[in-house]
Amino acid sequence: MDEWRGWPKIQFESEMDPSFADEIASIPGGDKLFSCIQCGTCSGMCPLSPCMDYTPRQIIAMIRAGSRGKVLASRTTWLCASCYACSVECPKEIKITDIMYAAKRLAIREGAYPRHFGIPILANEFFKAVEKYGRSTESWLTVWLFLKSDPIQFFKFAGLGARLFLKGRIGAKRDSVKRRGELRSVLKVLEKEHMIKSKRELASAGKEVV
Ligand code: SF4
Ligand code: SF4
Repeated sequence: MDEWRGWPKIQFESEMDPSFADEIASIPGGDKLFSCIQCGTCSGMCPLSPCMDYTPRQIIAMIRAGSRGKVLASRTTWLCASCYACSVECPKEIKITDIMYAAKRLAIREGAYPRHFGIPILANEFFKAVEKYGRSTESWLTVWLFLKSDPIQFFKFAGLGARLFLKGRIGAKRDSVKRRGELRSVLKVLEKEHMIKSKRELASAGKEVV
């Protein structure tokens, strides 16, 4: 949580993005987030909430308030283990887990995910490799994860990597599939189907966007 001399940092209305909640709510069944009663059941059920910077209840409240920057830069969505305990117990049947995924997709799309945090870096590099080659290669995935999250650790483990390479346990050759063009077409269709609507799309669909 952002703090200023031990106190939570106040966010002013001018820093809020009123269209943020509509963007997240554009996922199937996402509009239920507006019926949240802030009971806190989701936070109480969540096994990861003690490790999160904002609890699931807070994330829902922040999305509704338009706190785009804080939600997308938060570690909470990335720590979510997709156990669905919150979604099952929510008295308003809000799809909290799906909302976490929507926020993650937006954070990747806008490059707003927390810097140097391994989970989004790994997810992003994995998807890029699958999109380009059809498969991910562990050695390259590890290299990019270390370089982008903690370059010092990269040099610390470089010796171990070199030994594994010399013993043939890891390789530098990229794994790939045939007919990668077809795979890319499938991924594009899937991405379009699950795309969170942008402000422009919401506006053209008749939603008032400030
Ligand atoms: S359990 Fe559901 S209604 Fe209660 S705070 Fe969480 S999202 Fe809101
Ligand atoms: S799905 Fe995610 S947010 Fe919900 S309880 Fe499980 S870990 Fe927590």
